[in-house]
Amino acid sequence: MRKNIVAGNWKMNKTLSEGISFIGELKAALAGKSLHCDVIIGAPFIHLASIAKEAEGSPVAIAAENCADKAEGAYTGEVSAAQVASTGARYVILGHSERRAYYHEDGAILTDKVRLALAEGLAPIFCIGEVKEEREAGKHFEVVEQQLEEAVFSLSAEDFGKVVLAYEPVWAIGTGLTASSAQAQEIHAHIRSLIAKKYGAQVAEDCTILYGGSCNAGNAKELFSQPDVDGGLIGGASLSVEKFLPIIEAFN
Ligand code: PEP
Repeated sequence: MRKNIVAGNWKMNKTLSEGISFIGELKAALAGKSLHCDVIIGAPFIHLASIAKEAEGSPVAIAAENCADKAEGAYTGEVSAAQVASTGARYVILGHSERRAYYHEDGAILTDKVRLALAEGLAPIFCIGEVKEEREAGKHFEVVEQQLEEAVFSLSAEDFGKVVLAYEPVWAIGTGLTASSAQAQEIHAHIRSLIAKKYGAQVAEDCTILYGGSCNAGNAKELFSQPDVDGGLIGGASLSVEKFLPIIEAFN
């Protein structure tokens, strides 16, 4: 059964005490509410153990924003999937466009990260999406297909079933530009058809595909009402409970 998810991505924002306060505030805001989606917060590595503890007893699950492409060893400054899992985090965001663009993460690196995450019981939130020039050239369908092919389409159907996808047009991330609900639905349906071709109709039907890119309280309801949009990956609007809560409530 396909899940609806609203996931935040704090990126490199918030001190530890700010992160803990946010979780306390969100937990209080969600208490007693019946939710129609899962709620995830993606946070910097150093916050994970503390905020996972703070989130205990609440519906909020925790995600790392990255993990290493190696299992363990002499990789100074890296954080492994096993270390992420040991904090209580249950998800890891992989393939975010900022990691692809600034840290040169390609399909081979991302394949290793996805496999290591899955081996440690973490669910990858795997990001795909085209840049502005690719959209303008009408290449967005082939770009997302290639990104799926080079990383997650080599997984078994069972492992692929544990992956959450996030379609994030790079031109919409942090820019205030949003894909229209029709644009989002068109490409989400395309992504689902690619999954169906690769793994069959049931795996495609069960796959959660999030939209990301300047999603906010004003546009979430319309985006999430599209049949193939199963929630959002939220950057800027996940930094305050005031902005994040109405996005969660867009599913009510
Ligand atoms: C993101 O970074 O994944 C994102 C969608 O950011 P924003 O919501 O700020 O566009």
